[in-house]
Amino acid sequence: MNKPGRNDLCWCGSGKKYKKCHLGRDDDHDFTADTHKAGRNFDIFEPSVIQGNVSPMRIVPDSIQHPRYAKDGGGEGKGRKISILNDAELIIMRETCRAARRVLEKGLAAVEPGVTTEDIDKIVHEACIAEGGYPSPLNYYGFPKSVCTSVNEVICHGIPDDRPLKEGDIINVDVTIYLNGFHGDCSETIAVGQIDKASAALLDVTRECLQIGINAAQPDGRIRDIGRAVQSYAHGHGYGVVQAYCGHGIGKKFHVDPVVPHFYEKKERTKIKPGMIFTVEPMISMRQWEHETWDDDWTAVTVDNRRSAQFEHTILITEAGPEILTKSS
Ligand code: MN
Repeated sequence: MNKPGRNDLCWCGSGKKYKKCHLGRDDDHDFTADTHKAGRNFDIFEPSVIQGNVSPMRIVPDSIQHPRYAKDGGGEGKGRKISILNDAELIIMRETCRAARRVLEKGLAAVEPGVTTEDIDKIVHEACIAEGGYPSPLNYYGFPKSVCTSVNEVICHGIPDDRPLKEGDIINVDVTIYLNGFHGDCSETIAVGQIDKASAALLDVTRECLQIGINAAQPDGRIRDIGRAVQSYAHGHGYGVVQAYCGHGIGKKFHVDPVVPHFYEKKERTKIKPGMIFTVEPMISMRQWEHETWDDDWTAVTVDNRRSAQFEHTILITEAGPEILTKSS
């Protein structure tokens, strides 16, 4: 991966510009390590998704607790210290993560041909409010909608718009809710109607990558173990592992340390300890792992316009191993 430009999105997945995120602390990050062995020459396909019309931001009632950025479209600061929740906080975090899952399931249930990603945004927005929570993406660094909807070659951070889903599409719905002072984050990619075999295989392998990555998150292991496991499995299927966006610590803030790459990053030596809470959210592409960002400064697409899929859980590290907090009940 190349070192990002100052105004590109940071490689860590924070959603922030590089200059506002890791630029000052990247001296030891090896950007020349191309962990994907595919050749540099590749076929570029026609995009299947183009920018649509985005409706105004939805309103969250004042009675709901808003994160601070809701007002100013900023972020939540650096949050470099890995925080461990106390027992009382953990009870709340567990409930927040269960709520995130319930909201995600409502969003996914709406997916069918003809439905727009804006329709899904409305459903997720209202489901968050019904849970008593705030849809975390809304106005996070200015993100204009309440959920990320990433269709086909869109890797992540797709902005809901007026494009109707088509039979044969795949769509990732990425839900984060801010409830009782904590964020819970999960996503899934599903088929719109009938999809071709290659897309179905991509979904299966990406779902497996998530589980393999979670299994690799063991107390006293290292964060890099997760990416090593995911990458080795994905490459075994000939797929690429997106490097620019990573899992992240989560709790009182949406994106904090640790950064959790899904590729093998030798320097990610942080020890995994009981009490840590972070997401695992591999983005697996059919071939090339490199991304480009649309001029909306959010939507990340594969450079070759082949499809990319993603699954995400928020997990807690316990003495016994990883526990999925956003599991389907
Ligand atoms: Mn996430």
